[in-house]
Parts: sequence; C-alpha cells; structure tokens
Amino acid sequence: MNLDLKAINQCVRCGSCRTFCPVFEQSGWESANTRGRIMIIKGLTCGLRPDSHILNSLNSCTTCGICTENCPAGINPPELIESARRELVLLGKMTAQQADLSRNIYARGNTFGDSRDRLSWLKDRSFLTKKADYVYFVGCMNSYRYTDTAANTFALLRPFGTTIIPEEQCCGSPLLRTGFDARRFIDKNCMQIEDAGAQTVISGCAGCYTTLKKSYPHSIEVQSVPEFLSERISELNLKPLDLTVTYHDPCHLGRHNKIYEQPRQIIEAICRLKEMKTNKKDARCCGGGGGVRSGYRDLSLQMAKKRLEDVPEDVDFIVTTCPLCIRNLRDAGAGEKVIDLADLVAMATR
Ligand code: SF4
Ligand code: SF4
Repeated sequence: MNLDLKAINQCVRCGSCRTFCPVFEQSGWESANTRGRIMIIKGLTCGLRPDSHILNSLNSCTTCGICTENCPAGINPPELIESARRELVLLGKMTAQQADLSRNIYARGNTFGDSRDRLSWLKDRSFLTKKADYVYFVGCMNSYRYTDTAANTFALLRPFGTTIIPEEQCCGSPLLRTGFDARRFIDKNCMQIEDAGAQTVISGCAGCYTTLKKSYPHSIEVQSVPEFLSERISELNLKPLDLTVTYHDPCHLGRHNKIYEQPRQIIEAICRLKEMKTNKKDARCCGGGGGVRSGYRDLSLQMAKKRLEDVPEDVDFIVTTCPLCIRNLRDAGAGEKVIDLADLVAMATR
C-alpha cells in the first residue's frame, strides 16, 4: 500500500487526540479516534485485512482537523486517513454508502444523483456572460438544496463582474474525501473556468473551497465568499440589522484554511456577534464532513447536537458558510435558525 510510513510512525501514541476527536466523544471506541485509526492504518501496511470494522473506523472520520491542530507530533491525521481510504478503494474495498455516493456523482455530476438542471434556480440567464473576471462556483448543495442561498450569493457577486460556468460539475470534494478519483470533474470545471477568462473562482461552500484551493491547478485563484465580500464591505451598502447572531466555523474554511476573521468582519458590519463556546481553531465540528453525514447519519447528527450546545443564549441566527454544516445543524434541531452568511448579507442589502 502506498501510505506515508514516516508520518504513520511519527504518531507517538500519546492519546492527546482522544480529548479532541468528536467521533470518539460519541462512540468511545479506540478505533473511532485518531490514534486508533493511525494504528489501523499502520496495521494495513503490515497486511491487516480490511474488514467492515476497519472500513467503519476509517470512514467515520469527519476530517475535521482538530487532531492536526492539537497533535504534539505535528502529523496531519485526516490526510493519512484520506490516503488510506484511497488505497482501500483502489483495492475495491469500500462501504455500501461510499459506493452509492460515488455512483451518484459519476452518473450525474452531483452528490444527489439529481438529473435536473443544475441552474434551475437562476430565472434570468441573461446575467450569464461568456467572459468575466470572476466565476461563482455554486456547488452541489446550493445548486440543488439551498437554491435561495445560491440566488442570494450570485446577486451579491454579480455586480462585481461575476458569471457562472455553463456546465458546472461537482467540485470533486466528496469523491476525494472518501477515497475516489475526481480527475474528470476537476478537468471539466477547469476547462470552463479557463474559457470564461476569469482570474478568480469564488466559492460559498467550505468543502468546494478547500478542494478548489488544494486539488485544482494553482493557476486558478480561489476565494471564499467571506474573503471576497470582506474586501468590498464599503461597496455593499449594508443596512444595520437589530439582530444578534453567532458564527459556526466550518472545519474546511476555518482549521483547514484559517479563514476566521473575514466572516466575522462582515457579520459585525451588519449586526451583533456573540461567539460560540468553542470557536475559530477550537470550533467543534458539525459532524457532517468527510462522508460521515452520508455514511453514518445517526453519528453525524449526534455530533451536530453536541455542536448546538455551544450556541450562546438569545441569538436570532446561527450563521455559517458551508451548506453541509447548515444541513446537519438544521436536522439536529436548529431548523431555520441556521442560515448562510450570504443570506444574512442579503437581508442587510434589501
Ligand atoms: S495526538 Fe498525534 S501523536 Fe498523539 S496519539 Fe494522536 S495522532 Fe498520535
Ligand atoms: S479529523 Fe476529526 S474526526 Fe478525524 S480523527 Fe481527527 S479529530 Fe477525529
């Protein structure tokens, strides 16, 4: 197996990660925490047979990265776990849920296997120019599930010279996180971004953002919606709102990319911000990432419920910048109280 033995052996088995891993907190099994997973990966390099327990251990990591942040040996466990998933998929070893998710994406170019038009939410197509300085990368979740957020985001970005590529495909994140190849989707999106002549791609989804940034050619500049809007606050004509909100840091925008201040700057230009009990680099994971939402729904919702315990009292909204976090936190009981940052900005520009 092509796994980074040096990184695996760097784990000194101190167990610090047991304090932080949100999956371990729910299940209590050593195989469901970072250290256990690394020991299993080491076992795989020595011939351990990948049975269903091993697949469940490796596939129940949300790739939240809080272990990376706190590991005294300086290793990056989610990177190791993703590469182990990849090696196992290459051997044909995967869970039924992994197989379903990848089948949907390969068949229809989106995580839902949805055959509808990806741009059905955009009523006026005259806004779509062939060439533009910026491309808004909508992502599967906002294209099919949170279409109002997609419309609000595009309405905010359009005046700055932003278009959408005509045949956007899944960015590849769910495939890459769960061990599959995403090359054909990356190539198709890249070709269209180049055709648009855009300097920058703007993403409103933490998962898409991290994938565009880290797995696409470096010639494409990538910005998240909060980065882009925070540089243009004075041009947005924001009206103050008499609201108090809190902000949930999505793991893939926060810990993975260190985007902490920009969403807060935008919120504070609109209304009051009350921080969650854990925030920024210490923010608790919503439990939805890394394929866990689709593969282990109950576990994923337990983690989301735990995250909701961090919400301060008397807030009007829980604002975030990732549609997967929105879906998981809503389903865990927060309902419509969870909104996207773009929806808050849209309220302040009406
Ligand atoms: S904190 Fe790091 S070194 Fe310690 S057991 Fe966890 S992964 Fe290994
Ligand atoms: S990335 Fe998160 S879920 Fe995965 S092992 Fe590390 S702490 Fe646990």
